[in-house]
Amino acid sequence: MQCKFCKANDVAPLKKMRSIYNSLDYTLYFCDSCKCYFFDINEHDYDLQLLYDSLGDKNISSYDVTFKKDRYWDNEKRIIYSIQPNINSVLDLGCRTGDLLMHFDADVEKYGIELSKSSAEVAIKRGLNIYEEFIENIDFKDKKFDAVTCYAILEHLKDPVPILDRLTQLVEENGVLVVMVPYLHSLKAQLLYKINFRWHMFSQPEHLNFYSKLFLDKFISEKGFVLRKTKYTSGGMFNPFKKIPIASKVFGKFMNFIDFYTPINQIPIFDHMYLYYQKTKDIDA
Ligand SMILES: [Zn+2]
Repeated sequence: MQCKFCKANDVAPLKKMRSIYNSLDYTLYFCDSCKCYFFDINEHDYDLQLLYDSLGDKNISSYDVTFKKDRYWDNEKRIIYSIQPNINSVLDLGCRTGDLLMHFDADVEKYGIELSKSSAEVAIKRGLNIYEEFIENIDFKDKKFDAVTCYAILEHLKDPVPILDRLTQLVEENGVLVVMVPYLHSLKAQLLYKINFRWHMFSQPEHLNFYSKLFLDKFISEKGFVLRKTKYTSGGMFNPFKKIPIASKVFGKFMNFIDFYTPINQIPIFDHMYLYYQKTKDIDA
């Protein structure tokens, strides 16, 4: 087995894990060269479209088209501006209904790529420029963007490297590339793995790829980028008090505070990794 990320032959099968969706066992692989983990989609003949159709767009039919500022996306926007204050255009891969894009000022050109029809419809109603196509098939002409963002997408891709490459090409010089992925190397995910407790991100064949920071840093920096900021958060998912409403609310606020404002998010304790790169050299030009 060859590594789907770095193409080395140092890949070892770690263990078989049962899918919560189709009850088939998928082997988790680890590449010793680039330290990434992955599942092989071809281990079973299974139509991924069936899975995505069944996951669907929960709650989208009742989705409100009007824009409400959201603390999470507002914070992401703030970080992007702190790296490049001059943002005239943004492209969000897998933009859903366009929540992040809506946070940018009116004069910023806002583009999104969204394959789910019902999400795309809402985004279009909001006045956003939406491509309903695989990124590989979109002709951007020579257009580049001051910010290209990719939240919780790369873990799903069957063949992620060409898409990651494309994303780096679409960033304007001095522009920002944001990548957010589930992080199996985090303390939380590693602890769960060691005690054989299923990490919620092990949802093969929906989630296939678990990147190492080592691989992403090497790949993206070779395209002329410099890493400006890293953070690791619980993404609002970790809450041991879910069954006690008041405690749950207080704990949620406490975790938000830790995620947004404290240096604890610099240590990979929690399992959402955010990497913010700036393109300092336009290598494709
Ligand atoms: Zn590798």
